[in-house]
Amino acid sequence: MGNRLVACNDPILHKPCKEVTDFDCNIHMITEDMRIATMGREILGIAAPQIGVDAKIVIAHLKNGGKFREEYVLINPHIELYGPRIPSLESCLSTSALYLTRRSFFSHVCYFTPDGFHKHLKLSGWDSIIAQHEIDHLEGKLISGTGIPLTADYFIAKAYNSLVEMAQVMPTF
Ligand SMILES: [Zn+2]
Repeated sequence: MGNRLVACNDPILHKPCKEVTDFDCNIHMITEDMRIATMGREILGIAAPQIGVDAKIVIAHLKNGGKFREEYVLINPHIELYGPRIPSLESCLSTSALYLTRRSFFSHVCYFTPDGFHKHLKLSGWDSIIAQHEIDHLEGKLISGTGIPLTADYFIAKAYNSLVEMAQVMPTF
């Protein structure tokens, strides 16, 4: 336990987390460590295993129909996916590259608050994507395992290919 991000090869990031069974002050200590670990960074979410804690706890910054993002602490979240699957370009605190993946545009999340109240969220767009990314962490899934990495090589290859394409349609003088 601690307030540091674990390395991407840490086994805790690659296995399902344990359900939270005690709604006590331990949850508040873990969420505080999660906040400390992301201090000074613009983040949309973090999951407990990313700081080495084996517990189904997510912090997600969601708009949920409002104008601004607000922090939601999701304990033992369960997600159902709806609607079209759209391309999504994502980064992660636990991996270095950007990844292209696909996410469901709509989702329905059931979860418990840190005080043990059962709640629901109906999410769409970015909110839905954020929830899917973070809840994947609780199942031991990283975007590096499911997405296509967009590294510098990828962009260089893309630029090169479009140059070649342009050259083919350019008139010769
Ligand atoms: Zn992540």
